[in-house]
Amino acid sequence: MRCPRLEIRVAAVSHNARVLVERLGTLGIAVCGVTKATLGSPDVARALLDAGVSTLGDARLENVERLRGAGISAEIALLRSPMTSEIDRVVESVDVSLNSELDVVALLSASARGRRKRHGVVLMVELGDLREGVMPCDVLDAVERVIAMPGIELRGIGANLACRSGIVPDRSNMAELSVHANAIESEFAVDLDIVSGGNSANIAWALATGVDVGRVNHLRLGEAILLGREPLLRSPIDGLELDAFTVVGEVIESKTKPVHPRGAVGQAAFGELTAVASPATRTGGVDAVADDRTCRQVIVAVGRQDIDPDGLVMPDGFRILGASSDHLVLEAQHSAPGVGDELRFGVNYSALLRAMTSGSVTPYYFEASPASAASPDLLDAGR
Ligand SMILES: *Cc1c(COP(=O)(O)O)cnc(C)c1O
Repeated sequence: MRCPRLEIRVAAVSHNARVLVERLGTLGIAVCGVTKATLGSPDVARALLDAGVSTLGDARLENVERLRGAGISAEIALLRSPMTSEIDRVVESVDVSLNSELDVVALLSASARGRRKRHGVVLMVELGDLREGVMPCDVLDAVERVIAMPGIELRGIGANLACRSGIVPDRSNMAELSVHANAIESEFAVDLDIVSGGNSANIAWALATGVDVGRVNHLRLGEAILLGREPLLRSPIDGLELDAFTVVGEVIESKTKPVHPRGAVGQAAFGELTAVASPATRTGGVDAVADDRTCRQVIVAVGRQDIDPDGLVMPDGFRILGASSDHLVLEAQHSAPGVGDELRFGVNYSALLRAMTSGSVTPYYFEASPASAASPDLLDAGR
């Protein structure tokens, strides 16, 4: 197998999705399984659908088109407002899009009419995080205009929190969304089929004991399913698998080297503070306090082009010393790995995104764990 690579245990993703679908299902909340961190991987999408998600969601049209190209016919929501330059393609491959600009909905309407299709719209409401959404005072007016547009079906309303400003989904802002849903239905005699409360950051709110979820009947979940954590504190969610994704890199150098660099210190390649130079260097080069400690230093052929070094979870007994575009420098604390050895790293959301989008990390999709299964079942490799 190639290195660096991203190993994806599809069964773990599917397990996580199934657990969340069941738990949220008892609250009357359906799960839209979000594929964008995997760039719309058909293998992941199929695992989500098998696990019972009601629909798929992705922020990017090219990912939706990848899913359609792979033969996935389930309902897909476009989570980012369509660009005016992609309207026809959106109407072609997406069933429902999240919208906050009436001009865009009007273009969707014109395109849908031309194609004799109906396009679903979820109107996003700004609830405090200050990313997408119409202002609360404009909701009724916006709904009135959307309902009047031919070819458009108002499927519901939604909110997105904790993305731009870190605003926490709670009883108060979720209750506000319910108030909007009720007001819209009584004002216009429509039924909102979707009241979409938010993303993985809503998990803590939804799973808190005794919570009244009100009208919220839909959440769009990516990170919680893929990584098994809720994004507000990044705490593990009970019963979920945390290691569905693993970055594997290969050791290209392994030597005993001094702990401190030698010479005058400027900025490193990415401007970060480097390890402190030896006391001798700092005091002008005279060998005042010799610090000749050494460590086992290992270079892995993976770098900032491939992963976010701050988002990697080191294997046991390794500590990160630095990272540049193509090199990850580690200290091996209790071992001396050899050239050609592979090291395995956990990822957070940022490292996962970088690995998926990098182009130089090859994704491998496994049905079972490649580490534990005697003969792992490789579903798919490459992108
Ligand atoms: C990415 C995204 C989601 C999913 O977010 P996670 O934190 O991965 O669950 C939901 N809604 C919108 C609008 C998004 O852009």
